This record gives sequence, C-alpha cells and structure tokens, in this order.
Amino acid sequence: MTHYNNIEKRDIEYFESIVGKQYVSDNPAIRASYLAKSVMGLESQIAEVIIRPRYTEEVRKILVWCSTRKIPVSPISGGLSGGFGCALIKPGGVQLDLSRMNRIIEIDEDSRYAVIEPGVTAGELWAYMEKYHPAFCPPIADGAPPAATVMGDAIDRGFSLYTSSVGPQGDNFMGGEVCLPTGDIIKLGSWALHGVKPFYKWGLGPELFSMFMGSQGAMGVFTKGVVKIYPHPEHKTIKAWAMSNPYDMQNLTLELGKLEFGIAHNTVMVQGGNWPLIMTRWPKDKVPAEYDFYKKIGVPEWWMNWEIWAQTAEEQAFVEKTIDKYANDFKKNPKCKDPEAIKEWKLHPKQIASRLKKPNKIAIPYSYYEAGFLFITWYTPWNECADFCVEYNKILKKYDFPEVMWVASIERCRQAICMPIVCFDSSKPEDFQRVQDMNRESSEMCLKHGWINYRPDPYVHAPMMYSQAGMYLKYLRKVKEMFDPNYIMHPGRLMLP
Ligand SMILES: Cc1cc2nc3c(=O)[nH]c(=O)nc-3n(C[C@H](O)[C@H](O)[C@H](O)COP(=O)(O)OP(=O)(O)OC[C@H]3O[C@@H](n4cnc5c(N)ncnc54)[C@H](O)[C@@H]3O)c2cc1C
Repeated sequence: MTHYNNIEKRDIEYFESIVGKQYVSDNPAIRASYLAKSVMGLESQIAEVIIRPRYTEEVRKILVWCSTRKIPVSPISGGLSGGFGCALIKPGGVQLDLSRMNRIIEIDEDSRYAVIEPGVTAGELWAYMEKYHPAFCPPIADGAPPAATVMGDAIDRGFSLYTSSVGPQGDNFMGGEVCLPTGDIIKLGSWALHGVKPFYKWGLGPELFSMFMGSQGAMGVFTKGVVKIYPHPEHKTIKAWAMSNPYDMQNLTLELGKLEFGIAHNTVMVQGGNWPLIMTRWPKDKVPAEYDFYKKIGVPEWWMNWEIWAQTAEEQAFVEKTIDKYANDFKKNPKCKDPEAIKEWKLHPKQIASRLKKPNKIAIPYSYYEAGFLFITWYTPWNECADFCVEYNKILKKYDFPEVMWVASIERCRQAICMPIVCFDSSKPEDFQRVQDMNRESSEMCLKHGWINYRPDPYVHAPMMYSQAGMYLKYLRKVKEMFDPNYIMHPGRLMLP
C-alpha cells in the first residue's frame, strides 16, 4: 500500500515561490469548486491545494517536489471530463490546473498540424482557426462544451467531429511534450530528435506516445501537444434515415462504412440512437415518457445521421444520393428486419444548421432531465453495436433508468463507440448507488462479450478489465514506475496503484 503525505505549510510556500501566490489556493470553497461527481466519473475527492502553473518549468519543479515529498498530483486541462481529472484518494494532494497554459504555439498548414498547450480549449482553437486559418479546422470533441480542451480529449481517448472519417482523437495527435515526476521532459514523435519538427508520430522507432494516451493523467503531465488540423470544406449537410431497431441501423450503416474511398471518408460524423435520446434532453416532469408522443412529432424509434463534408456541391450530392440508394436497396436485403420502417428522416434546415454548428454543445441538455447524467462508453466492433444496444438497454430498464442509447462510427465503421447516457437524480444519494449497481452488472455483461470500456472508471471498469489482463497490467505498472517511480501521478486511476 502506497503512503502519501498531507500538504504542509512548507509545501504551500514552495508552490507559491514557483508560480506566484495568486496561483496557489487552499481555500476550501475554491478547492470544492473543482469537485465533479457526474458526466464521466462519480468517484472524486477534494484536493488539498489548487496550483495553476503557466510554464513547463513550473510544472517540472512542482512534480519533482511532490515526488520527493510523496504528494499526489492530479492534472486537469479543462476539467470538463466531469470527475475524471479530480483527485481520487485522501489525502487529495495537488490539483494541477493547466488552464493558464493556453498558448497556440504554431500552425503549420502544409504539414497540417497545430502545436498547442494543454489549456487551449476547443472553443479557443476553433475561433482562432476560423479567424487566422479559415481553410482549416481542428478536431474538437463534437458534443463537448467549448471550454473542454483538445488535449484533455486526446488523453481521455475521446472522439472528434470527424472521427468517423479519421479515427479517434488519440489518432489525431502526432506527438507532444511531457513533464515527468523524475524531473525529465520528453518530447514524443519526430519531435524527440533535437531540432526536428513534429511532422511524424512514429518518430524514432518504438513509439512512446501511446503510453500517455488513455493514461488519465497517471503517467506524466502533457505541457504541449501536436494535433492534426484538416482542410475545412465548404459543402456540408446532414442526411438521416429512420429505422425501428438497432440491427437495421447497424447493418445499413456498415454497408456505407465499407465504401471507404469516395463515400465513407466524406461522412465525417456518423451517429445514431433511439428516441429516449430526445426525451432526456428535456426536464423529466415536463415531457411524456411514452413513444407514441414522439412518434406523432416524427421522431423514429432508431435512426442514423450522416454528416457529409465535400469539396464541391456535386461531390456532396453524389454522397447523399449514394446513402439514399443504399438505404432503399437495404429494404430488400435479407438482413433487413423491418423494411417498412426504413424511411428517410427529413430534417428541418434549422436542425441541419444547428447540427453543423461547432462546437455544437449537443450533449449539454441531458442535465435537464434529472440533474445528473453519466456517459458510460464502450467500444465494440461495429457489427456488434446492435447487440450492445439490446443487452445494455435491458439492464438500464431493470434498474429503472431511461434506455438512452447513442452510437457513433469510428474509422468508417471499423469500431463503434456506444454510449448509454445514464440519467439520474444527482440530488439523491441513493441514486449514485443505483448507477453503480447498474454499471457493475452491465460491465460484467460487456466484458463477457469482449467489449472494451473507454475512460475506465477506477472502481468498476478498471479492476474488472485488468483482472482479465494480468500480464498487460504487469507491464503497464513497469512503464508507470519508469515515468513516475513514487506513484504520485493521479493515484487510483487505472489500478495504478
Ligand atoms: C456535455 C458534455 C459533452 C461531451 N461530449 C464529448 C464528445 O462529444 N466527445 C468527447 O470525446 N468527449 C466529450 N465529452 C467529454 C470531455 O469533455 C472531453 O473529452 C474533453 O475534451 C476533455 O477535456 P478536458 O480538458 O475537460 O479534460 P480534463 O477533465 O481536464 O482531463 C481529462 C483526463 O486527462 C487528464 N489530463 C488532463 N490534462 C492533462 C495533461 N495536460 N497531462 C496529463 N493528463 C491530463 C486528467 O487527469 C483526466 O484524467 C463531453 C463532456 C461533457 C460535459
């Protein structure tokens, strides 16, 4: 069992000497304001001190001090992964708030990358590119608040606004600079070689970069990141088709996903779901809970949306026509369960415009339903996402949660990212227990199927997952010890320790 020390007066004095008095706070109200128990994680503790560094060297000095003193350090960039950046244990130690490190350092339009500091938010980078590099756009998290960061999304292995075309957010990063508790600063990708620009992720042989992706802050602190930027075409629209069941949604979408060149690369965000997704965007006591109501207003039981980006109007029209043709042909496919229900869902131009607006803030209203919501997300092979929806919804129903299911394609339907949105009353302590009981049962079910949790939480997912991957955990611990020998980085995350 690792022992950690409480913060003492001499620690505070040291931190103040490094970053300045105004950027260190042990005020109880300020510390409590960082606490988050929802959205992604329910387990978090209040840190003992908040430190807001500005420079890499400040981060380095803080980490070395904390490593020597055995004080836990939990980094956050935007802190909007709702619980995942918070301290997990007592004593909570340092909450390292990197939001002041918010410089956009370089944009290279030819090699197509941006070098950013961790505190650069999605909203800031989007606005900056729109103003100074309007022909390009950065991979911001599609539904996250504009104050969430691009770097935090990658560390969390999130998904971006064109994930269906180019892969998950981790794949959009090409390197970075990481500060370690050993006092070392390492550069990753081709950047590792002195004087070389960060143009190539698979830099110098074996690639260390991925040890930090999905690390949840448990390995070291990113002080810079290199993120791909993409040309931003002018022609865009959304196409939607309705279905009555998740199998038709899965199978039609897979056929289109396999048309990789010329079609699927143009469908940047391919996402669908079921009617409770609409219901839970409104206060529970103000909306009907029966499907009949939603049917009358034209909401299908299940649907899939294809967000199309194209260089020309002709190219866009061709992709739209192909989607329609495949959807119509699919009605005759022996795999189709309910041909009658397969219909185009004609969206109002305002629906299309609001969907195309970035950052689109689409996920924020789930807090209206019952105050609390938790995204519990799993990766499955695309052709198993319908089974996921059916099996997971049974468990949601059993625990009396609305059966809210959102599914998106990663890399042209190679994988699916499946996200049940668990809406609960965060003002009732017993509801937290109900969420975790449901989470435990559904995680057992998912792991039996071989589905992988993304953002594994520390009490349910990580122990279940790593207990089935003992050899992997053994070597992950060795890597952790290499970067963070005193185990100060975000203790409790990923079963480390
Ligand atoms: C309403 C809502 C909608 C969302 N929609 C999406 C979505 O569409 N797509 C999506 O992918 N995500 C989504 N998210 C999740 C989340 O907001 C994003 O992934 C976000 O970009 C995370 O960035 P952040 O700065 O808030 O991360 P943080 O909360 O600061 O950190 C995330 C994790 O990374 C670690 N970390 C942070 N910074 C560093 C660093 N510099 N060095 C080392 N470790 C670090 C933290 O300890 C934590 O474990 C949504 C969240 C909300 C609240």
